[in-house]
Amino acid sequence: MSDIVACICEHEDGKIVPATLEALGFATELASLTSRKIVSVVIGEGALDTATYLNQLSGLPSLAVNVAAMRAYNSEAYKAAARHAIGLLGSDYVCVPGTTQGFDFAPGLAARLGMPCISNVEGILERNNGPVFVRSVFNGKILAELSLDGQGLVIVQPGRFRFEKNNSSCESWVKQVSFDYEPVRTRVLSTEFSEAADSSLSDASVIIAAGRGIRRKENLELIKRVAQLFSRSAVAGSRPLCDDGWLPFSRQVGQTGATVAPELYMACGISGAQQHLAGMRGSKLVVAINLDAHAPIFLEADIGIIEDLEEFLKNFCEAAPRS
Ligand code: FAD
Repeated sequence: MSDIVACICEHEDGKIVPATLEALGFATELASLTSRKIVSVVIGEGALDTATYLNQLSGLPSLAVNVAAMRAYNSEAYKAAARHAIGLLGSDYVCVPGTTQGFDFAPGLAARLGMPCISNVEGILERNNGPVFVRSVFNGKILAELSLDGQGLVIVQPGRFRFEKNNSSCESWVKQVSFDYEPVRTRVLSTEFSEAADSSLSDASVIIAAGRGIRRKENLELIKRVAQLFSRSAVAGSRPLCDDGWLPFSRQVGQTGATVAPELYMACGISGAQQHLAGMRGSKLVVAINLDAHAPIFLEADIGIIEDLEEFLKNFCEAAPRS
């Protein structure tokens, strides 16, 4: 049995992505429950600089796996490099941030390591026979508790854990290993950046967010009318609306979209999937309008309205004084 929990840390051009620190927060809890140490693993070309920065930021030991040929992320090379790192550390628990990249490589990595894999983990509990991992199933209606038989890979749900640096950490080092790997099956042809994040979302103090429950694109006009009732307001949406082109991707809130923390977040016809909640959980006041009284968004809402959103919002627009 190894005494190391490895956390594979994601970065973009050397910048640590926020979900990495959250995964380290989870790894800290797991390490404390299982009396293990954490080692953060940074993979890529020039990984040493990022690993050094991460070590200063977190105070945790960092292993840099320098993959010279991997200028841009390549799933095949990344999995091979991660497997090499886990082999060197001998870790029996591996944590991965639940980002698009994490979901891309983690299940394949688990298969190569011969480990079970649990995705979307949002909590961890202590039980007599070891840690138990909590994730939601059936679109957030049920919380499942799963255990691993002393080893496994955990994909950590963004927005659920916080990392706090522990200055008393006794061991802190940065080591570098080189890993040569030329991908044979996949090549990155080009990398294109999506539209820049819409600053109106991060600046807005009121966000009116539309979900699939608005049913027709024309109903976005109603959402916009509600937004116009407030100053410093913006319209946002859940992923299906952006996937369908009803709203630009820059307006998507959630795990693979923007993270927002307005004074008021009004979720109109949004079910409250974990991936959506990950982006709006920091909102000060959440109002949810949904026909389904059991929709998980109500667990997050301060005010819940069980009603047809079209009817409610029309009445709201007529009755509301302008702020
Ligand atoms: P639905 O889940 O279909 O919910 C529609 C809701 O509208 C239902 O609750 C229904 O009761 C209600 N409704 C229907 N009619 C009415 C009415 N007339 N009045 C009132 N209520 C009504 N999703 C995101 O939003 N952001 C992300 O960043 C994101 N990232 C993802 C990343 C990954 C890796 C994966 C796998 C998924 C991601 N998703 C994301 C998708 C997410 O899992 C959900 O599928 C999505 O959030 C559901 O959107 P929704 O709530 O609008 O639709």
